[in-house]
Amino acid sequence: MSGLFDAARVKAREALGQSVVKALKAKGYEAVYAPSKEAALEEVLKLIPEGVSVGVPGTVTVREIGAMEKLEERGCTIYHHWNPALSPEERSQVLMDEYCADYFLTSANAITRDGKIVNIDGNGNRVSAMAWGRNTLIFVIGINKVTSDLEAAITRSRTATPPNVLRLNGSTPCTQTGYCVDCDSPARICRALLILERPVNGRKTHVIIVGEDLGF
Ligand code: SF4
Repeated sequence: MSGLFDAARVKAREALGQSVVKALKAKGYEAVYAPSKEAALEEVLKLIPEGVSVGVPGTVTVREIGAMEKLEERGCTIYHHWNPALSPEERSQVLMDEYCADYFLTSANAITRDGKIVNIDGNGNRVSAMAWGRNTLIFVIGINKVTSDLEAAITRSRTATPPNVLRLNGSTPCTQTGYCVDCDSPARICRALLILERPVNGRKTHVIIVGEDLGF
């Protein structure tokens, strides 16, 4: 019986994912639906050739689909700053390398059903690279991040914060409450909000909507 429920869930997710893909295409994005993590990884590998450099900012999703290992196997140079062994100087350089890589591979905090992509940032590195860059931009977004409208997307972008802070062994008011209290904590990581309404002028931007829950 649970198999029947699973099939219904898969179909419903695909219907929603395809609706978002349609909306994204109408806005000028290159967009596809991938039913699973494995299919999402295949789509990423279709877009990123061997031997190029890839910037990967703070994203659980990209790591969850196994893209880091697979791209490294293909001889790509991966720049990512989630390495606690980096000195402040090295970290700063890696952040710049991420920004300037041939491809910028990331997720989003939320996406609306009509294709608005929402991200919130503490350092501004992710949102600035999404807003301006000469490289090809690729988003991989789990179906759990699709929201009904922009207000829900902004709310959702802050829902992702408590687990993100806890992952870094940090402490913000929302790690105690489990929800955003629009804090004044010096440790606040919600500082810059980006809403992409369309692909930025002249920038090739791909979006892969995945029919599984991914990221926070
Ligand atoms: S504004 Fe503060 S309380 Fe709200 S999600 Fe961000 S860090 Fe947490």
